[in-house]
Amino acid sequence: MKRRRPRGKIVRSCPYCRSSRLIFEGALILGQLYRCLDCGYVGPLVLEEEVPDSGTPPS
Ligand SMILES: [Zn+2]
Repeated sequence: MKRRRPRGKIVRSCPYCRSSRLIFEGALILGQLYRCLDCGYVGPLVLEEEVPDSGTPPS
């Protein structure tokens, strides 16, 4: 298994409403559980986006 090098920070957002107001709900056997504070979604699936820490967005 390859692990991506952490170059920025990972921002997690809700797959339904794209909100980034997710809280960590707990750990499951297969992964983690998150809750969205905006739409109430609870589940292990969240969108993860890597954003560079030091400004300069691409193009
Ligand atoms: Zn949501």
